[in-house]
Amino acid sequence: MQHLVRKNILELAPYASARHEFEGEADVFLDANENPFDTGFNRYPDPLQHEVKTVLSSIKNVPIENIFLGNGSDEAIDLLIRIFCEPRKDHILILPPTYGMYKVSASISDVAIKAVPLTPDFQPDVAATLAASDAHSKLLFLCTPNNPTGNSFERGRVEEFLQQFKGIVVADEAYIDFSSQKSCTELLAQYTNLVVLQTFSKAWGLAGIRLGIAYASQEIIGYFNKVKPPYNVNVLTQKAALEALQNHEVQQKQVQDILEERKKLATALSDFPFVQHLYPSDANFLLVKIEDPNALYRHLVSQKIIVRNRSTVLLCDGCLRITIGTKAENARLLKVLKTY
Ligand code: PMP
Repeated sequence: MQHLVRKNILELAPYASARHEFEGEADVFLDANENPFDTGFNRYPDPLQHEVKTVLSSIKNVPIENIFLGNGSDEAIDLLIRIFCEPRKDHILILPPTYGMYKVSASISDVAIKAVPLTPDFQPDVAATLAASDAHSKLLFLCTPNNPTGNSFERGRVEEFLQQFKGIVVADEAYIDFSSQKSCTELLAQYTNLVVLQTFSKAWGLAGIRLGIAYASQEIIGYFNKVKPPYNVNVLTQKAALEALQNHEVQQKQVQDILEERKKLATALSDFPFVQHLYPSDANFLLVKIEDPNALYRHLVSQKIIVRNRSTVLLCDGCLRITIGTKAENARLLKVLKTY
């Protein structure tokens, strides 16, 4: 693993915050230059978010030592690039069409991007991807279920990468809770080059609190913790996440409702003559090929309904991406579509 990590990160002496230095029991805290008057928020947050990780660990069946929490999974993506990729020397591999932040994060760090398109049925082309990689290919981003296509990658292909790719394989599972496939977290014990990303932004219904998760070997988690800003997850976020985790059944019920709505919406959409193709979805959205996507997009906007126009994205010609809303929202969408 060490040979994959940037030299400056290996050698980095991380910042030691006050809350990090002392972790035991005490009554009087005069170590962090905080305001002593209790506002509810006058103290810095737990830098390693022990309480949240403890509950998450038991729900996800992953040991606490293998969990990193960040300011959205976007922070984890950015940190991975900064830990492993030497600017102007190394590159990341992405499989378009896919989530846009891998490319943006790499570009911000002046790290090059190699793109190997998915096959027409939206699966990774394992041979072409491995052929495109070399000693400077540090990270391979696999988004499964994939955004914007909505499908999951075949487990066999993911494992082929884990066995043959010489860098780190990042399985971005932002949409895993809507999927019929099992999480790659169960492969963590077997593959030390695996990082699994998940988020509180989708199934957990907490996009506003900005909380993302990376599961990985203890060694990789150590690098995340070395590089992250000391207090990267604020007190309000930790509180809200803990509450949601302790009421897991609420999330489970919402996921069930969304899955039912996904099924109903898919059936209803396929009846419209202007819907040319409806792609199977393992996520909380549907990718739909439309005869004239721009015209339909404008019609929906005129009726105050916003979907994502993906019609110019590689392999997604003519497609709109529609998030599954509430029952009432989906009914309104269908009503408006009937007036088109
Ligand atoms: N990964 C994927 C595949 C996504 O679609 C998104 C958000 N749309 C993210 C990561 C970012 O999630 P977060 O809100 O945790 O930063």
